[in-house]
Amino acid sequence: MIVALENFYEVTMVRINPKGNQKNPAMKATLDAVLAKQKAAFDATPNSSWESRKAKLKTLGEVIKAHETDFIEAISADFGNRATEETLIAECLVIQGGINHAIKHTPKWMRPRKVPTALQFLPAKNRIIPQPLGVIGIISPWNYPLQLAIMPLVGALGAGNRAMIKPSEYTPKFSELLKSVLGKVFDEDEVFVATGGVEVAQAFSALPFDHLVFTGSTNVGRIVAKAAAENLVPCTLELGGKSPTIIDPSANMGTTVPRIANAKLLNAGQTCVAPDYVLMPQNQINAFSDAIIEQAETFYPKFAGNDDYTSIIADSHYARLQDLLDDAENKGAKIRVAGNDDKQQLAKERRIPLTVVTDTTPDMRIMQEEIFGPLLPIVPVETQEDALDYIQKRDRPLALYWFGEDNAKREQVLRQSISGGVTINDAAWHVIQEDIPFGGVGPSGMGAYHGEAGFQSFSHMKGVFYQSKLSQGKKLHPPYGPATHKMLGLMRKIM
Ligand code: NAD
Repeated sequence: MIVALENFYEVTMVRINPKGNQKNPAMKATLDAVLAKQKAAFDATPNSSWESRKAKLKTLGEVIKAHETDFIEAISADFGNRATEETLIAECLVIQGGINHAIKHTPKWMRPRKVPTALQFLPAKNRIIPQPLGVIGIISPWNYPLQLAIMPLVGALGAGNRAMIKPSEYTPKFSELLKSVLGKVFDEDEVFVATGGVEVAQAFSALPFDHLVFTGSTNVGRIVAKAAAENLVPCTLELGGKSPTIIDPSANMGTTVPRIANAKLLNAGQTCVAPDYVLMPQNQINAFSDAIIEQAETFYPKFAGNDDYTSIIADSHYARLQDLLDDAENKGAKIRVAGNDDKQQLAKERRIPLTVVTDTTPDMRIMQEEIFGPLLPIVPVETQEDALDYIQKRDRPLALYWFGEDNAKREQVLRQSISGGVTINDAAWHVIQEDIPFGGVGPSGMGAYHGEAGFQSFSHMKGVFYQSKLSQGKKLHPPYGPATHKMLGLMRKIM
């Protein structure tokens, strides 16, 4: 039970380097060879046409749809149980929406853009020409393994790139399936999936890609960013953290409670943008706790043996969550568990029902680490200023949720808090709006993707200045003299 005693990040660290820095020259040679092939193929056609990009996006959509049931089964087997509908809603549907949106809008995003030219340089002109970057590396996590491998791929292919993907070793059945499914429709020099453990991930993150997208924990994100920096590979880091949920006294509890319960219990809380903790006035906490426990029991009359409820991915994460609860209880928190399931059965299935934690204090680990499970601590705050102060003193979160009907207070939160994204009067839905960027800020990530944000992240937005035949620029050439000074004077006046 050594792992059980560690926190979330240490669970990850044990995995990062289980037996020291293992070397596998054959695996590294394979990765190097595939990257070289992809780069050579890219160099042969560096600016792929819209037709070829569209064909790839369509093929991707079709092959995923054709293997939907296989993906649902593989993911469920990797988790122990994952509700079919959760995979359909949070993975397949998101991908379909992302591909359709890319097919509809990429022709417009690809076009060279006319931009203004400052008066002193007229009649020259400026353009921004989006250009594919080359080969994009994609490292993805286990919690939504299909969505988080494929959505960056949609952005990469739409922007005209080739891609190599390293899915998580926590979902081995899914990862092998992904490799075989994509291998059916893409040549190795277009899209390649590298499966394997952490040593593959380490070798992968050290490759000289043209851009690297990493989705995972903040801790591993730091390691990946360092590896990428060795080759000056630019990174999009989609990381985690604690996403706060403010419930204002003006909130309609009839809609707030089921929405929070749903977002928290989807995938059993193993969602990067799940509400991590709730901030609300002390005098409403008991009523809210009762209501959300009742709501969870309505959603899941039983947690054990219920196909609608997802298991915790691995024993190490199950133990980590139990440890967070033990630590909170030892420090004075009150714990309420939804349902009335047999504890041994729950443990056997790695299921944890919604667990509400009250009387929390900042020294509890549950208030310091990303929870990533169905535990919901509540922090009492008397005013919105107290809630904002609590959030501002901590790492900038990936998501923030605000529930209420008081528009002035809503605007205050939007102005004064900094988070990757926000959903108002619900949770998590901002992530699948293709017209807004998805990404974190500070410790919850850097860069963004989805929709046009993804297209821009995986493109080089090349600035081009077209000089005019009528340019007076030669007056700025040496030898400098009165003409230069006259020109300088003029430019200073109009700049
Ligand atoms: P993780 O960081 O442990 O692993 C993510 C990926 O990194 C895996 O593919 C793994 O193989 C790889 N990896 C592990 N060690 C590595 C190393 N030393 N070098 C290079 N790569 C390495 O994350 P996880 O446990 O799979 O996922 C959970 C975390 O991901 C949570 O923190 C969650 O918030 C975050 N997450 C973020 C988003 C987002 O979009 N911002 C989405 C999902 C999950």
